[in-house]
Amino acid sequence: MSIAFRVEAAFGAGRCGRLTTPHGEVETPVFMPVGTLASVKGVPQDVLEDLGAQILLGNTYHLYLRPGVEQVRALGGLHRFMSWPRAILTDSGGFQVFSLSELRKVTEEGVTFRSHLDGSPLFFSPESAMDAQIALGADIIMAFDECTEHPAQPARVRESMELTLRWAARSKKHFEARKHEVSWQDPRGPDALVRANGRGLPETQALFGIVQGGMDLALRKESATRTIEIGFPGYAIGGLSVGEPRALTREIVESTIEHLPADQPRYLMGVGTPEEIVEYAALGIDMMDCVLPTRAARHGLLFTSQGKISIKQAQYAGDQAPLDPNCSCRVCARYSRAYLRHLYASGEVLAQVLNTVHNLSFYLDTMRAVRHSIALGESPRSLSEVWSRLKP
Ligand SMILES: [Zn+2]
Repeated sequence: MSIAFRVEAAFGAGRCGRLTTPHGEVETPVFMPVGTLASVKGVPQDVLEDLGAQILLGNTYHLYLRPGVEQVRALGGLHRFMSWPRAILTDSGGFQVFSLSELRKVTEEGVTFRSHLDGSPLFFSPESAMDAQIALGADIIMAFDECTEHPAQPARVRESMELTLRWAARSKKHFEARKHEVSWQDPRGPDALVRANGRGLPETQALFGIVQGGMDLALRKESATRTIEIGFPGYAIGGLSVGEPRALTREIVESTIEHLPADQPRYLMGVGTPEEIVEYAALGIDMMDCVLPTRAARHGLLFTSQGKISIKQAQYAGDQAPLDPNCSCRVCARYSRAYLRHLYASGEVLAQVLNTVHNLSFYLDTMRAVRHSIALGESPRSLSEVWSRLKP
């Protein structure tokens, strides 16, 4: 067994589920904070646990460069290395290769590109992306795909989708042959986390497939159908939030979901704003990740139940109110807007820490409220509706 998924309640297209991983259970729909370099910038792991983070996302490309995937394997895998006992998902590195590296060359075999750190030449293939993710040892890992650029000509979108399908089959083949090499499976490893399920079989990682197909509904359907034929325990929708209008993103998500299995987890990669994660959960998405809450926090942009606040503004210099009176996070319970504004204006490290804690708490509480709504048989239509129920 790698993962198990059970839908426990549904309302309209939205559903609440329970995803069981080798490192614990995840209630869905779930927002996954991004811990690029085995760290959610500015937030210690014990605080993430207190905030209710159930699963973190790590970036294979960044960890491949620093500290190196073999180093992480030698240290017992990502869970032990970063002291995070709960679930982890890693991406395949494909998206970073496409977004960070301008000098890349894509062939049937894989992608040749240059490190964004020192320009050294690198090569990623479906096989090497699987090896890297097995070495890191996340609970859920992703097939190596090509994120199609936007806009792109129809012929180019099809060609890219076909390549992603061939790479998905290669990813699965290589993963199936090597999956028992994961570090928490190795009895000689420093942290032999060998567990057994009811059938006495050891647990392994789970590999998810990724649906591509650009902004073409027919190609999205074909990509979904053919990825399902290859067969994965979960499916992601990739290649969105790449500059297309939001209404189009929603249209693609809504139509792609129809072609995905109802009894398996659906992961929408790289979205979104608080409004969007509510919307996508209501459409039937189970998992989401985004750098927005953490990155915006470091720039002083805070999400609240009353809208966005730019804490750097002078109007908050004498404001003794909490950041968000409806938020029960440790930051809103203790500090004033005036103090947060002062920390930010002074360049204090604590500003980044407190801002990130609030934004993540806001996202995680939003998803908790969405799950609650669906379980009660209500439809969480908008962020304001969700937060109107959370008000003390
Ligand atoms: Zn707060």
